[in-house]
Amino acid sequence: MNERDSGAVAAMLRKRGYAMVDSEDDADVILLNTCSVREQAEQKALGKMGHLTRLRRKKPHLVLGIMGCMAQNRGQDVLDRLPDLDLLVGTQKFHQVPDHLDNIITQLQAQGPRPSTIVDLDEEEGSQNTIRDHLDDERQVSAFVSIMQGCNMNCAYCCVPMTRGRERARPIEDIVREVKELATQGTREITLLGQIVNSYGRREIPFQSGKSPFVQLLEAVHEVEGIERIRFTSPHPRGFKQDLIEAYGMLPKLCEYVHLPVQSGSNSILKAMKRPYTRERFLQIVEDLRAVKPGIYLSTDIIVGFPGETEEDFELTRELFESVGFDWGFIFKYSVRPNTSAEPLGDPIPKEVKEERNQILLDILNKSSLRRNESLVGSTQEILVESPARRGEGLYTGRTRGFRKVIFPGKPRLVGELVPVHIEEATASYLRGSLVLSGINAQDESALQQRSTA
Ligand code: SAH
Ligand code: SF4
Repeated sequence: MNERDSGAVAAMLRKRGYAMVDSEDDADVILLNTCSVREQAEQKALGKMGHLTRLRRKKPHLVLGIMGCMAQNRGQDVLDRLPDLDLLVGTQKFHQVPDHLDNIITQLQAQGPRPSTIVDLDEEEGSQNTIRDHLDDERQVSAFVSIMQGCNMNCAYCCVPMTRGRERARPIEDIVREVKELATQGTREITLLGQIVNSYGRREIPFQSGKSPFVQLLEAVHEVEGIERIRFTSPHPRGFKQDLIEAYGMLPKLCEYVHLPVQSGSNSILKAMKRPYTRERFLQIVEDLRAVKPGIYLSTDIIVGFPGETEEDFELTRELFESVGFDWGFIFKYSVRPNTSAEPLGDPIPKEVKEERNQILLDILNKSSLRRNESLVGSTQEILVESPARRGEGLYTGRTRGFRKVIFPGKPRLVGELVPVHIEEATASYLRGSLVLSGINAQDESALQQRSTA
């Protein structure tokens, strides 16, 4: 979500005539978009900005700003720690960044005293409709589309409701328009973004023939020509109903991969976390999904070391984690977030215990991810070619429908194409393979040319 928000701010700035540079040393403006979800992310951002303020010694006109969740959550505290900031912008004010920057730069150019920090943290009605700009001079093969902002849940550990505000949905027509524009610019895959996507539009849009607003949205973006793949993140187990499960059987562009955060496998911890479902319900959803799409790819989020998590609780999480066999996942060590309902519980689980539980789950994850990847060796997968690989001449990278990363020898003109790739080698984190052309394993120029002529 932060990537999406940063991209939108960058696009708005480009429209204003700003240009992106590759290095901090060359920049006249540096904005950090921040995450508050765990303490470590906040510490990183504070440390980074502290470091950047030193660049001012050589470049007094350098404009520095902090945007996003940490600005929203800890406004005054951030200013106390970083008094040299020019700009502090909250999560509902990203679209104001260009105006604020223009003001600051005009004042700096007038050579007067440095203006005091601009602080813009208010709530703004309709701000969910402002995150839609995309960088227009760069084709995004796979693009994020924000469908809603905020969250109305109150999970005991989570600061998102404080940083992102109440849940607000964008209208279906606006989202479809954005997806169409992206398709025209060459986007082939979209990922719909929200804190709980399956509660999308619950208050604004009525159910239709038993279909929730989110499934209606999926059907609407499914119609957009040029879009070949649809993903979304994150759904919540609570609202993962039959209509959404059935959508996997009915919408061929909907990729058979679900990121479904479970957080814990222990019902008493789920209750303490105020997550309104049980492990049994979660396992039922997994079973139902597998009934509609056998082999569906699954990933999840888990928090280890939530206050009160006993060995038995963790064992239940470990057991669920192992038995589901997640293809991927994110494991977080609990950290206390200010103003959450779990804050008064403190952080009683020792660091080493969290570390150990984290490692146990990571080991399981690596094994199950490797097992899945190995099972793909010898098969041919449909890959959406995204870009040249970071390393290796002539190598390209893309993903399978199940979100597995694949590296293979390719050509620039294949970027944005769906191509069959024969999988030859597997590690836990990626696959290697080669292009398949009309049944021949061909990497040679002539075969590629035949294909592009065809
Ligand atoms: N809306 C999503 C989660 C968004 S936050 C959902 O409800 O599933 C992303 C992940 O950060 C969460 O799933 C959780 O695993 C983790 N997280 C949130 N708060 C945390 C905290 N205080 N300590 C550790 N991990 C946390
Ligand atoms: Fe945070 Fe819970 Fe909302 Fe997810 S559902 S953003 S974990 S409060």
